[in-house]
Amino acid sequence: MDAKERMHIPYQEMPEQPASERVHNFDEVNQGYSEQQALAEADRCLQCKKAPCREGCPVNIDIPGFIAMLREKKFAEAAAKIHKDNSFPAICGRVCPQERQCQAVCVVGKKGEAVGIGHLERFLGDWLMAHEDDEGVHTGSAQQPAPTGRKVAVVGSGPSSLTVAGELARKGHEVTIFEALHTPGGVMVFGIPQFRLPKEIVAWEIGQLAHVGVEIRTNMVIGKTLTVDQLMEAQGYDAVFLGLGAGSPIFMGLPGENLRGVYSANEFLTRVNLMHAYRDDYDTPIRKARRVAVVGGGNTAMDASRCAIRLGAEQVTLVYRRSRVEMPARIEEIRHAEEEGLNFQFLTNPVRFLGKEDVEGMECIRMELGEPGRDGRRRPQPIEGSEFVIEADQVIIAIGARVSPLAPLAAAGAQLDDRGHIITDPETLATTRPGVFAGGDVIGSEETIIAAMRDGRKAARAIDQYLSTRSS
Ligand SMILES: Cc1cc2nc3c(=O)[nH]c(=O)nc-3n(C[C@H](O)[C@H](O)[C@H](O)COP(=O)(O)OP(=O)(O)OC[C@H]3O[C@@H](n4cnc5c(N)ncnc54)[C@H](O)[C@@H]3O)c2cc1C
Ligand code: SF4
Repeated sequence: MDAKERMHIPYQEMPEQPASERVHNFDEVNQGYSEQQALAEADRCLQCKKAPCREGCPVNIDIPGFIAMLREKKFAEAAAKIHKDNSFPAICGRVCPQERQCQAVCVVGKKGEAVGIGHLERFLGDWLMAHEDDEGVHTGSAQQPAPTGRKVAVVGSGPSSLTVAGELARKGHEVTIFEALHTPGGVMVFGIPQFRLPKEIVAWEIGQLAHVGVEIRTNMVIGKTLTVDQLMEAQGYDAVFLGLGAGSPIFMGLPGENLRGVYSANEFLTRVNLMHAYRDDYDTPIRKARRVAVVGGGNTAMDASRCAIRLGAEQVTLVYRRSRVEMPARIEEIRHAEEEGLNFQFLTNPVRFLGKEDVEGMECIRMELGEPGRDGRRRPQPIEGSEFVIEADQVIIAIGARVSPLAPLAAAGAQLDDRGHIITDPETLATTRPGVFAGGDVIGSEETIIAAMRDGRKAARAIDQYLSTRSS
């Protein structure tokens, strides 16, 4: 087939659970490509010599390389090719913002729909899970190198930490993960809902770490239950990685924010996802609201809105102070939320929350976009006299999160900047404390799973190097 013919192959749509059904359950929305669809989509790739898609990928996956193998039905080899640069294809294939990364620069996308790189990655990740026991299939857990006698403590169990742990264990170091919560996985488990990223997928990836000898200790808050000093001095850890994330919600500081029924998205999503509040067999309390207002425009706001819809709210309204094109959420999430009946109020901002003890509504003001600010984005400005009220018996604030105020305790002397991020060397991710490294949201990375994984890889290389230069 020549390039012209390939350009005429229609884009393979991802099969989805219909909106009318999925609003009543938490099952996964995207159903995954069939083998036939994956092969057809792979045929759309032009195998470009310069492969701009590869440049667009934060971890530089050999995208044309894995697609070429997929095309030949060499699924194990294709998955292994991805694995060289990305340990979690089933996760990234589901939640990476490909439309802003690899697919944004795909040559096919200049004249039509870009190659569905993410969908193909997911197909291979899922294939790997389904065929892990087949002969000749390597999930990354088969390599068992000789022990080096070095011990590494990994704090937190989000994508940066899981990546560091896997990489170092595969080099023969003894790795223990210390996680504050009762379940490992970080935001992938307590933030992102089941209908976007099933918990079983994250659990499978974590299970792979156990195969290479990584120990996971949950309910361990480093800085409180144990300190970095204790880990390094009393317990003999040679190096520590801090992947603490940025899990402290930001509030708006508006009147009425303390009313009952005003939640941070962090608390709401944790109750729903980690504590399974949506399931009858769990007794986690959650407000079953009739009218919900969600404030924000990112993935967190979308996830909170879509959970509220599934919990049975009659009306869910999303209030965002800029316009649709500026929304940082993934395009697919915005589309799914719209199909599920989310009511968008763009160029709108809350002014105060109304009610006596329980929240009853939210007074808002219309906004317009003014001159660009320091970040280059046009600044939203209130339009005087445009106030109006949205009735709501639950409000969820999803305007962002920051590093926990407990981070300095966990960092144990490693320096933080004025925004609370741990300061690291950009090449090695070493902190200012020798033997202590950090990555992911806690160092102010791009707040994506793939960026956290990239940091994990980088830190693992540097930690391995650091351990090799230490005398025994
Ligand atoms: C609701 C939501 C939806 C998102 N959707 C997407 C998406 O679709 N695509 C995408 O790419 N990104 C998404 N993101 C962003 C992405 O999830 C994060 O950027 C990423 O998870 C950061 O990874 P991390 O390794 O820094 O740690 P995190 O995932 O933040 O995990 C940090 C872990 O460290 C633990 N911890 C913290 N302090 C301590 C301590 N002192 N001791 C022990 N453990 C500790 C925490 O309990 C947590 O488990 C989303 C974020 C949220 C909140
Ligand atoms: S840019 Fe698109 S068409 Fe070219 S190699 Fe990458 S995925 Fe294939």
